Amino acid sequence: MTIRAPRDRSDFKVALICALPLEAECLQQVFDNFWEDDGHKYGKAVGDSNVYTTGVIGEHNVVLAHMPGMGTVSAAAVAGALRVSFPNTKLALVVGICGGIPYGKNQEEIVLGDVIISQALVQYDFGRQYPGGFKRKTGVRDTLGRLSPEIQGNLAKLETSRYKQRIRNNIATFLQDIQRKLPGTNHPGLANDVLYNSSYVHRHYPPTICDECGKDDEICEVALKTECEQLGCESSMRLTRTKSTSSTKERPVAHFGIMGSGNTVMKSGQHRDRMAQADEIIGFEMEGAGVWDYLPSIVVKGVCDYADSHKRKGWQHYAAATAAACTKALLVEWSVEDTPTGSDQLTFEKDVREMGKKLEIPGIEDDQADVKTLVKQRLSSSAAGRWLLILDNADDEALWVNKANSEGRRSTLMDWFPSTAHGAILITTRSRRVASYLAGREVIELAAMSADQARNIFMNILENPELAGDQAAVSTLLDKLTFLPLAIVQAASYINMTQETVPPTWS
Ligand SMILES: [Zn+2]
Ligand SMILES: [Zn+2]
Repeated sequence: MTIRAPRDRSDFKVALICALPLEAECLQQVFDNFWEDDGHKYGKAVGDSNVYTTGVIGEHNVVLAHMPGMGTVSAAAVAGALRVSFPNTKLALVVGICGGIPYGKNQEEIVLGDVIISQALVQYDFGRQYPGGFKRKTGVRDTLGRLSPEIQGNLAKLETSRYKQRIRNNIATFLQDIQRKLPGTNHPGLANDVLYNSSYVHRHYPPTICDECGKDDEICEVALKTECEQLGCESSMRLTRTKSTSSTKERPVAHFGIMGSGNTVMKSGQHRDRMAQADEIIGFEMEGAGVWDYLPSIVVKGVCDYADSHKRKGWQHYAAATAAACTKALLVEWSVEDTPTGSDQLTFEKDVREMGKKLEIPGIEDDQADVKTLVKQRLSSSAAGRWLLILDNADDEALWVNKANSEGRRSTLMDWFPSTAHGAILITTRSRRVASYLAGREVIELAAMSADQARNIFMNILENPELAGDQAAVSTLLDKLTFLPLAIVQAASYINMTQETVPPTWS
């Protein structure tokens, strides 16, 4: 199925947010199309410093925001700006890697490379950390209560066994695609999926001398960045996992549950287990809580470690790939509302019926009536007298230009135009393509209004001219409205309503 190119940024409903270049790299591999390849540029709002990639995944137009760094603060800044540039975002997926709890809901085993899909978030470091414990200021943030019914419904659907299985199959398929393009994302081998006893801390042990490690549960920076093998973590402290003997061992599973989100890194398995137990958390990550305040969001993250500071090679790349594959699997099943094409078409047919009613055409009220044909016949007959039909704002190319629209049907609205010497059709559009297609050589291009014309319209509609005493401010306002008549009328009406002086606060 081909997806129609969005008209502008307001047509994007799904946003993807990645903290690491590696995460974005994997996610881009599951795009079905990039709009820039087709010559479409969507830009961003003034003052937005985010960097975006726009494209298509499944049936969704998506915008991917690349974050400058990790953490909730950075995520909040990115999400806040994204909301301004893409004002109709209905769902933000925060995609990447996370730490996982070894056993999730109902003691379901979670292994490295599995993906966690958040049903709710707990901001676990919203408070202060005390020796031997952690005191949070707030309880569980019931994100489900704040997500739209549409998102809740989709999540509930996907958690049924039928869709869980479909998602698992699709993850495997999409993961193979990614791995073909990015060989570095291959499975690191089950022997590398190592879980240590939760009390066994990843730090320097004697005979290595380290002043920091071990004091007040501290782990030094060097140890945090060193892999277990170099650091010398004891293999006798490992726990056995049952998944390693199962036949579907290398096929990642998507787990639904509560995600812990914060800026504090989990330092030990015991710390992790305490937090997990208190709130039924099954994963830990660092961006979701930042995005949450700005956009309805779900975190989709691949497990690259067990949130206990122990480190092993290769899992970050693999987990970033499984998260990307899961994101696509999720979006493929995610049901969408009707495209604007469908609703525009419906609106148009409703309008034609209204026209038929005004013309008192017999049978027009009948639900089964072919309304368009009835109205066309009437307008084409000399009995209709002389008429002028105005189609305002015919900007939707897919609706008017005679090519397959997003549902794969050919647009037939053109065929409807009555062709007769006693009537005329005036169409206004901002799209040069629609204009050429509908009117051919009869296109009349309208230039922007002059500053004087714009000022005249504005002052004529303004009830109290004293509110526009500041001439320079009026000029700036009209300039900002790019002298568009409709915008000027709306601005003047707004001022009539609020009695604010120019410039009004919103400008
Ligand atoms: Zn150390
Ligand atoms: Zn270790």
